[in-house]
Amino acid sequence: MLHTLEREDTYLQKGLRKQLVQLLRNKGITDERVLAAIDAVPRHFFLDPAFERQAYEDRAFPITAGQTISHPFTVAMQTHLLDLKKFDKVLEIGTGSAYQACVIAEMGVTLYTIERQKALYDHVGQFFFLKKYCNIKRFYGDGFAGLPSYGPFDKILITCGAPFVPPKLIEQLKPGGIMVIPLGEGETQRMTRITKEKDGSINEEYIGVYSFVPMLEGKNTQSGLA
Ligand code: SAH
Repeated sequence: MLHTLEREDTYLQKGLRKQLVQLLRNKGITDERVLAAIDAVPRHFFLDPAFERQAYEDRAFPITAGQTISHPFTVAMQTHLLDLKKFDKVLEIGTGSAYQACVIAEMGVTLYTIERQKALYDHVGQFFFLKKYCNIKRFYGDGFAGLPSYGPFDKILITCGAPFVPPKLIEQLKPGGIMVIPLGEGETQRMTRITKEKDGSINEEYIGVYSFVPMLEGKNTQSGLA
């Protein structure tokens, strides 16, 4: 896959990225820290070169193993909803291309990220751009189990459509912590923000309708690229 090779971030791409940031602003993203993080990460590095010209449109694209890189608006909205604070310990389920992981890592947190597809996990490991982020820790595993030995986490982000709220992830969320999770099977999901109160009780807030690839149980051990 070509995108593991060093690529350029030209003035044209930097300019297109500024336009994307403006588009996200117009679509209602007002969180300047999130917009600065989107501006800092060259999204075209994460896409097959065939899509490079469209990398700064607000579109999802196919990546390896039948998965997708989310819309920039979705990435920005989920990141905003997490209300990240510097030094937060964050768990992401669904590394995918690692684009969203880099946007989050830009915000000065420590990010633990899990991917269930061996092919994607291995592929991202060869990606030069990721070496910039020593605050990203990648794991190959099943997100339904989380990372009990690294938790609890201040924030948990699910980037695939979950059939239900995984109980082990709620366990691994700190009291006062926030989970952002797209809930539902099928074509669309309900973006939901869950707050775990200090007394352990759970508050759910419905945000809107989004579309994600499904959160699947178990690992996929296939290592060849599809
Ligand atoms: N955040 C990603 C979006 C990837 S799409 C990005 O920026 O590119 C969602 C990802 O979730 C896919 O790569 C899929 O393989 C992964 N996934 C689905 N179910 C999972 C599970 N149970 N555990 C970990 N990852 C999972």
